[in-house]
Amino acid sequence: MKARGLAALTPKAPLTSFEFERRDLGAHDVALDIAYAGICHSDIHQVREEWGPAIFPMVPGHEIAGTVSAIGSSVTRFKVGDLIGVGVFIDSCRTCASCIAGLQQYCQEGMTGTYNSIERDGRTVAFGGYSNLFVIDEDYAVHIPPHLPLAGVAPLLCAGITLYSPLRTWNVGPGSKVAVMGLGGLGHMGVKFAVAMGAEVSVLSHSPSKKADALAMGAKHFIDTSISGALKPLNKSFDLVLNTVSAYLDINEYLDLLKLDATLVVIGLPGRPYEVSAGALLNGRRRIAGSMIGGIAEMQEMLDFCGKHSIVSDVEIVEAGYANTAYERTIASDVKYRFVIDAASF
Ligand code: NAP
Ligand code: ZN
Ligand code: ZN
Repeated sequence: MKARGLAALTPKAPLTSFEFERRDLGAHDVALDIAYAGICHSDIHQVREEWGPAIFPMVPGHEIAGTVSAIGSSVTRFKVGDLIGVGVFIDSCRTCASCIAGLQQYCQEGMTGTYNSIERDGRTVAFGGYSNLFVIDEDYAVHIPPHLPLAGVAPLLCAGITLYSPLRTWNVGPGSKVAVMGLGGLGHMGVKFAVAMGAEVSVLSHSPSKKADALAMGAKHFIDTSISGALKPLNKSFDLVLNTVSAYLDINEYLDLLKLDATLVVIGLPGRPYEVSAGALLNGRRRIAGSMIGGIAEMQEMLDFCGKHSIVSDVEIVEAGYANTAYERTIASDVKYRFVIDAASF
C-alpha cells in the first residue's frame, strides 16, 4: 500500500515529506486511516539519535488514532469503521513469559517498535504513525471509546498508558500522595489519572507559567523547581514520585521526597545516566524503579478508564508542515500539553 507521511532522512535531519510502502493486508491485519498522530518526546530523542544509532529514513510516531478501513480474512476483533489505536509496539515474540502475561512491552526477545525497528520477518523497516495510513496485526491494536474527541485520544496510546501503568502497579488510590515531575505530554496525563484515582497530586515543574493548568487538571500543589530550595520542605512526604522529565537532572533531591519504603519511578529517558547517591537511597529504605509503557490489555483497560472518566490529553492540533517547529517547542517545554498532527495534512 502506498503511504504518505513525514520522515527524517538522516540522523538529526528535519522532517520532510516522504512516500513509502506499507505491507499489503495479511489475514490477521487491520488497515486504518490515521486521523491523528501525537508527537512524543521519544520521537525527538530517536530522530536525533540521543539513545544511540537509529534506522533511517525514519517515520516517527507511536501515538496513532484512526478508523479501520479494511480487515484481513481472519480478523475477529475489529470491523470496518471501528475506531482503533496503535501505540509504541506492533509485535512481540508472543511465546515468552512476559508476552503470555500480557506484558508485551517487556518481551524477552524485545518488543518490535512501531518505528526505528525491524519487523519480525528480519528485514522490513517499521515506519511509524506520522502518516496517512497504517497496517497492524489486530492483536497489537486497541479499541477507542467512541465518545471521546479523537485528537485527545491519540496521546493516550503512549503518554497515557505510560503513566497509567505505574499508577496501577504501585496501587495509587484515595490517600496516596503522588508527585509528578515535569508537566509535559506524559506528566499531564499522570496528573489526570492520579487525580481520577483519588490521589493527592503535586506537580514539580521548572515552568511556573504552568501552575494554573496544573491546578485546573486537579493537582493540589504546584512546586516551582526553578526556585532553589523549593523541594526541601517536601522531604519525606510522597508515597510515589513519577519522573517524566526528558532531560538529565539531579535525581537525589527527588529521592529525598520519598517517605519510608516509597518509590521513585523513572519514566523519562534522557540520553545521560542519572547519578544516584547511596545515602539518598538507603535513608528511608527508598526504592528507585522504572516503568515502560504498558501491555495491550492494560492499554485497553486505560482507554476504557478514559471513556468512563472522560479523560483525554490536552492537545494542540497542528499540520504536518508545523512538525519541526513543534519539535523545537517541545524541547523548550513549550507544549500544552501534546502536539498532535492532523493526518489529513500529510
Ligand atoms: P515533554 O512533553 O517534552 O515533557 C517533558 C517535561 O520535562 C517538560 O515539559 C518539562 O516540564 C520537563 N523538562 C524538560 N526539560 C527540562 C529541564 N532541562 N529541566 C527540568 N525539567 C525539564 O516529553 P514527554 O513526551 O512527556 O516525554 C518525557 C520523557 O519520557 C522523554 O524522555 C521520553 O522519551 C520519555 N518516555 C518514556 C516512556 C516510557 O515508557 N518510560 C514513554 C514515553 C516517553 P516542566 O516544564 O513542567 O518542568
Ligand atoms: Zn512515546
Ligand atoms: Zn515475548
